[in-house]
Amino acid sequence: MRYGIFADVHSNLAALNAVLEAFSQEAIDRYVGLGDIVGYACQPQECIDRVRSLNPVLIAGNHDWACAGRLGLDSFTPLAGAGLIWTIEHLSEPDKQFLNSLPLVVKEDSFVLVHSTLDEPQEFYYLNSQSEAEATFALMDKNLCFVGHTHIPGVFTQTPDHLEYSHNAAFSISPSQKYIVNAGSVGQPRDGNPLASFCIFDSATNTVEIKRVAYDIPGTQQKIIAAGLPGFLAERLSVGR
Ligand code: ZN
Repeated sequence: MRYGIFADVHSNLAALNAVLEAFSQEAIDRYVGLGDIVGYACQPQECIDRVRSLNPVLIAGNHDWACAGRLGLDSFTPLAGAGLIWTIEHLSEPDKQFLNSLPLVVKEDSFVLVHSTLDEPQEFYYLNSQSEAEATFALMDKNLCFVGHTHIPGVFTQTPDHLEYSHNAAFSISPSQKYIVNAGSVGQPRDGNPLASFCIFDSATNTVEIKRVAYDIPGTQQKIIAAGLPGFLAERLSVGR
């Protein structure tokens, strides 16, 4: 089975379309969304429709739950909060109910999915360091976990004697090790690379790939500005921050 895995679309339809076009060349059998379909940019409705048309396995991100009223805006930065207030004003009730229905954790045959961390996933902690990865590793009963949230693609690996973190773009899964794979962000990468990030897991060959694809950044920036959102939410897309 080949899984097309994506995270943190954040209402960026052009980036989502570019990633789905790339997936169409990859013989994907099943799609997996790691949360935060909405927030920051200005096409939440279109992104929800496009994602739902894939019939994917989906989990909730903090922006999804905030738009559904399940999470207070006080836990967000002022910029994220401005994006959320805009999104809440522009989303339909059925779309909010859909976001409200998304679970925090989903277990599949060969992996587990969570937006942030497996320990207290409702708190949406950031998993940035090896010490922060330990609690999630301890709660994994499979050896593979896919996450999003930081918008920085990478992989934490737990071997029998140590933990490591790398930005390997392609690697094999060894049954004797555990892996937490961050798929990066479709709509707002923050690793200094502005290209949209996505991930492929092939359960037959036990391989993971993290790939990048270009999309129309200037056109997206114009839409964000025209929607009246903060200018930095447009500017940051050029630099991947
Ligand atoms: Zn996010």
